[in-house]
Amino acid sequence: MENRDVKLIEKILSLKRERNAVILAHNYQLGEVQDIADFVGDSLELSQNAAKTDAEVIVFCGVHFMAETAFILCPDKIVLFPDMSAGCPMANMITAERLKERKRQLPEAAVVCYINSTAEVKAESDACCTSANAVKVIEGLDAEEILFVPDQYLGHYVSTKTHKKMSLWPGYCPTHIRIRSENITELRQEYPQAKVIVHPECRADVIALADEVLSTGGMCRYARRDDVSQMIVGTEIGIIHRLKKENPGKRFIPASEQAICPNMKLITLEKVLWSLEEMAPQVRVLEEIRLEAKAAVDRMIEVV
Ligand code: SF4
Repeated sequence: MENRDVKLIEKILSLKRERNAVILAHNYQLGEVQDIADFVGDSLELSQNAAKTDAEVIVFCGVHFMAETAFILCPDKIVLFPDMSAGCPMANMITAERLKERKRQLPEAAVVCYINSTAEVKAESDACCTSANAVKVIEGLDAEEILFVPDQYLGHYVSTKTHKKMSLWPGYCPTHIRIRSENITELRQEYPQAKVIVHPECRADVIALADEVLSTGGMCRYARRDDVSQMIVGTEIGIIHRLKKENPGKRFIPASEQAICPNMKLITLEKVLWSLEEMAPQVRVLEEIRLEAKAAVDRMIEVV
């Protein structure tokens, strides 16, 4: 580790104690950010962690909707988000206004939004879900028709696991669609012993070639299995850092080197430090929207 990093990390850790802060980082964050975090996980694990922490300040290292979700669950805490420009392009493929319009066309449908959505979209939804619990949430709702937003690929995958009638919003993750079925086919030939694990944000033809379809948290648990030593990993490549760190001696092959989410890489150690020094930028949500969005998130937490 470079001298610069050692000094930066020391400063971050000392300010973190001073501010009574906790650092939460998504599995796709830069390795250096994951390494200083108190907790690294997927969207569901991070929101559960935010909800139960005793810290007064949460430094959220991920993308904007995740920091918003932390504030929705913990309005009495300060949620620092070190780079306000780190949005999720998929979350921005739908607005509350467009969702209201679609709801008018489908009056019988219950709206389930993927956690990758803005607070305003969550506020217009009946329940929220993550890739880890989407099927359970949908099955647990008292409605036969579901409008699923904004990820069409996760929505399509879930539709193969439920008998409910599903209408899908045409959003997608620009990072996961870079993973192609040809990538999987070629890597399977090169690494015949490897298991193929993919995220449900991938295209349906990629999912069809996988041994397991898992959330990033699910991938981390799967990688610990004694009977698996090589994995072709179909998700954003930031997770490879954590997989290698937790499973020395095992081999992790990215399904595509191009599966990089630029927004997930915007938060750096310097920005974490500035944010703790300045106690800014802070993410907040209007109380009226927060309460409605929280009802959708609570519905998810009740089910899982
Ligand atoms: S990986 Fe995809 S879904 Fe996740 S933050 Fe980036 S664009 Fe959004």
